[in-house]
Amino acid sequence: MTSAPLVRFAPSPTGFLHIGNARPALLNALFARARGGRFLLRLDDTDRERSTEEFAKAIEEDLAWLGIVPDLFARQSDRSAIHDAAAERLKAAGRLYPCYETQEELERRRRRQLGRGQPPIYDRAALGLSDDERAALEAEGRTPHWRFKLDARTVAWDDLVRGPAHVDCASLSDPVLIRADGSYLYTLPSVVDDAEMGITHVIRGEDHVTNTGVQVQIFEALDQPVPIFGHHNLLTTADGEGLSKRLGHLSLRGLREAGYEPGAVRSLAVLTGSAEAVRAVPGLDDLAALVDLSHISRAPAKFDPQELDGLNARLIHAMPYDEARERLLALGIPEARAEAFWAVIQPNLTKVGDAAEWWRIVAGQVTPVIADAGFAAAALDVLPPEPWDGQTWKAWTNAVKERTGAKGKALFMPLRLAVTGLEHGPDLSGLLPLIGRDIVAARLGGRD
Ligand code: GLU
Repeated sequence: MTSAPLVRFAPSPTGFLHIGNARPALLNALFARARGGRFLLRLDDTDRERSTEEFAKAIEEDLAWLGIVPDLFARQSDRSAIHDAAAERLKAAGRLYPCYETQEELERRRRRQLGRGQPPIYDRAALGLSDDERAALEAEGRTPHWRFKLDARTVAWDDLVRGPAHVDCASLSDPVLIRADGSYLYTLPSVVDDAEMGITHVIRGEDHVTNTGVQVQIFEALDQPVPIFGHHNLLTTADGEGLSKRLGHLSLRGLREAGYEPGAVRSLAVLTGSAEAVRAVPGLDDLAALVDLSHISRAPAKFDPQELDGLNARLIHAMPYDEARERLLALGIPEARAEAFWAVIQPNLTKVGDAAEWWRIVAGQVTPVIADAGFAAAALDVLPPEPWDGQTWKAWTNAVKERTGAKGKALFMPLRLAVTGLEHGPDLSGLLPLIGRDIVAARLGGRD
């Protein structure tokens, strides 16, 4: 391969992308990124009934959220003249032939074959039709669907993920490339576009391995160079269940709305089922450096969505303030206090949005929990004067200890409950100066 790679991600705009779709999108994008290559987003929208503009737009938005900005963009629906020309060439070469069977006829034949213990492969009966017979069928009102005539041979390739791979095309039915209504199935347009746009590497899920056997034959029938293929394992839930676009399983927009960082979703989507441990990798370049297609496992990539919380938390704990700033301001946290606030609460966050709740504890309404009013009054009595800093909590708790004799949990917990209304939370040495003396004093008095 002399030139830089050109890869593509080719979803059908028939639903929202989910985390399982993020895997091929990212594997392609990272492959190109690591090699100075380019990434094409191609919308496989030949299914006019199910493809929508809304889903097309959502795909671009969701990819952008993942950090993928395509270098090139194409829609199959804009390219039908090119597909038609290729179909004509295949027809002229006798590789694409008209068939007239109805679904019921095919099903009956299939059952008969199975009953005889034969593999249910299309018997090519349509190839034996004479011109007169075809004309008679068309006079009955039948319109043909078109099948590609496979060579009965094994197609072999060196797979980027699986190593030496092959498909025995003799055991496959001739695939239908054009439906009776004249529309294309994905198989032919994909090959034509890959060839015409100069795609160098086709990286996609292993559910396409059989298609590759067929598609290699189509590339060859069209006298086009065959790209390099790589078929990665698919993400499945822990019990081995596949992810379906139509079930809306963990859609990227759902994950975004739930407050997950794209870095967490990327790490889980890419590192699961690879040779690398699943861990939080913030940037695309670091992730690109880790991914080696030849080290991706052959076993299903089982993942647990719960892992997202841990990955997300780790990314946030290392997130510089500058990256969080805008989002904190959007939560209504005043700019003058946001940086100090971030430093204090950051270790307690799983999601950036959780900061809103801690800001309430700092500056909003809190219901103080006071079990022993005498203890709270004593604590108020020895509350240090301002200015407050990171040492104030220590000085105060020492003074309360001296005054009341309480220590350990019996000292700290009633103070935390009075000041925050909660049993858990950020380190009070940091929190206390943020809340400030007036509010702490009010809460110790049972007010907010
Ligand atoms: N539109 C196909 C799909 O979503 C593309 C598969 C491929 O990458 O060739 O499955």
